[in-house]
Amino acid sequence: MSRVHLPIASQPTVSQHPISSSQGVGQSVYIETYGCQMNVADTTLMTEILGNQGYTTTKDSKHADVILINTCAVREKAEDRVFARAHELAAHKKSSARLGIVGCMAEHLKASILDKVPSVDIIAGPDSYRRLPQMINNQSTVIDTGLSKKETYEALSFPSEQNDTVSGFVTIQRGCDKCCTFCIVPLVRGRERGVPPRDILRQVHAHVAMGYKEIVLLGQTVNSYCYEDVSFSTLLQTIAQIEGIKRIRFTSPYPLDFTEELIETIATEPKICHHIHLPLQSGSNDVLKRMHRGYTREDFICLVEKIRDRIPSIAISTDILSSFCGETDLDHQATLDTMKEIRFDSAFMFRYSERSGTYASRRIKDDVSEEDKKHRLQTIVDLQHVISKEIFSNQIGNTESILIHSYSKRNDDQVIGRTNGFKSVILPKDMGNPGDIVNATITGSTMATLFGVPTSSSAQQ
Ligand code: SF4
Repeated sequence: MSRVHLPIASQPTVSQHPISSSQGVGQSVYIETYGCQMNVADTTLMTEILGNQGYTTTKDSKHADVILINTCAVREKAEDRVFARAHELAAHKKSSARLGIVGCMAEHLKASILDKVPSVDIIAGPDSYRRLPQMINNQSTVIDTGLSKKETYEALSFPSEQNDTVSGFVTIQRGCDKCCTFCIVPLVRGRERGVPPRDILRQVHAHVAMGYKEIVLLGQTVNSYCYEDVSFSTLLQTIAQIEGIKRIRFTSPYPLDFTEELIETIATEPKICHHIHLPLQSGSNDVLKRMHRGYTREDFICLVEKIRDRIPSIAISTDILSSFCGETDLDHQATLDTMKEIRFDSAFMFRYSERSGTYASRRIKDDVSEEDKKHRLQTIVDLQHVISKEIFSNQIGNTESILIHSYSKRNDDQVIGRTNGFKSVILPKDMGNPGDIVNATITGSTMATLFGVPTSSSAQQ
């Protein structure tokens, strides 16, 4: 079978196989999503692009006409899982169905994906989604992994009708201009681009019209957002004026781009939730330097203090990347000490594994033994569990405003919501339905969950 490499430019007219807006009528597409919230938002985007051509979505991969796996490249394990899943899907799909691997892993591995899964028909990177209808229509294997400096999918993203209508994701920025030496994201998502404010506001209004209560703004370094003279703070303030929105969140900010103006905006705008996910990565200055993070441990602690001074109720979570190249026992201890000093509410914790193509993979030796990596990560996880357990149990007796997100899958008598500080809370079902904001008194906790009951003055807002 022949292979077609589509060009880099993000023109919607590159295919030799022109399509009509009814190309997909009567055809169904099954999309499986891996990775971060930006990928979830991209799946919604692809659904919209294909929906415009008449495709309907299905949860039944065996009878789908198109199968897409939207992938993550951040860790090797995630890629291995996708290969295994692609084999499974290929074995059980309709013989005429087109199978695609799209997203970051497609961008990372490009045509080499075919060496592992020869039955893949479409390999498309994150800037190629406009051209999916053409790729599906093509009878050959198509590889389209060009990155664009401009593509923001303006006017194409709409709220998902598949998910609940409580919390809606709006991608405000694509790509990343930072150069963290361990990270593959700039390689697979390209240069940083802000989505025009007019399109962000259009998307927010569309979410409100569908009944969404919470808007989550997404970007790799979301607070570096800038579009002409619109800063991230200005954008937040503008979105907060939109009637119908109850809560605004954003993820993930970059420590160096956290301005005084942003702290002030969070402190003074009641709709912006008091939770910040602020990635530390390491508590060792030597490691931070090798990671090219651009700040020191002291800078980071100083920023956290500044935020907590102005917003005492703020919850702060983080990412820790343990055992980066050259990390010594002393460096590891510096990370533990920093965690003890800052006391994050929660953390995503990982051990380093090399990603091909990154600066670190080319220039810095991955010299921490597997045994040390395992042990160090475990001590980090254990420490965070102790800290989280204490912080969560300190909430017992507090009254919290909770946005109910879903019905519990484990217990028919319970619903699950989140505090303003992004902590999960389990409540009795009769307290409300998804989308309601209720007041609850916290009566119990684990290291990751709170339990609440109606506060005597509980009132839906
Ligand atoms: S800021 Fe650093 S870690 Fe985050 S996506 Fe960009 S390069 Fe990767």
